[in-house]
Amino acid sequence: MGASAGDGLTAAAPGGAQAGSNRETTVDLKKIENGVRQIIEGIGEDAEREGLRETPARVARMYAEIFEGLGRDPRELIKPLTGDKHDEIVLIKDIPFYSMCEHHLLPFLGRAHVAYIPDGAISGLSKLARVVETVSRRPQLQERLTSEIAEVLMNTLKPKGVMVVVEAEHLCMTMRGVRKPGAVTTTSVVRGIFRTRQATRVEAMGLIRSS
Ligand code: ZN
Repeated sequence: MGASAGDGLTAAAPGGAQAGSNRETTVDLKKIENGVRQIIEGIGEDAEREGLRETPARVARMYAEIFEGLGRDPRELIKPLTGDKHDEIVLIKDIPFYSMCEHHLLPFLGRAHVAYIPDGAISGLSKLARVVETVSRRPQLQERLTSEIAEVLMNTLKPKGVMVVVEAEHLCMTMRGVRKPGAVTTTSVVRGIFRTRQATRVEAMGLIRSS
């Protein structure tokens, strides 16, 4: 086996599985390439045929990108803006996200809705979208994705409450197994006042459901 493109290349992407850790490791592109080549050969394909020859290197670079949220601490994205007196629901609807199911390494994708009630500190709206993106770019479960977003807000803005609703289609359900195209899985996490006050929770859900 000759050395292929990407031989010895490592991307300086951080790694580490837990939210909140900024443990620096590197993505081992070569290792991913070897693995992808094994998969190609394992399914009985010819890894050296023209269409597949560059695929392992291409997939390795892609994985470095779609898993770049590993080891990044999304709390660092939030810079609380204080002094605002707003104490009603702030809702950011329809934040698109693309993540990878850690059970099948197939995408799940959809929209996240993030609501919170400030207690003296708010966040720039684009920062919330960046938080969703960062926690999406890891091997994930929809339930954990949802709670990680909520915890980031609780830990940084210290709001009166947070509610996160995530709606997603899982390709591992639509391409294989039960094959339910278009099936949407909804998860929600409530913290603080959204947990203790039903009226607040209902109000937020109404805002999310209204188009
Ligand atoms: Zn899956």
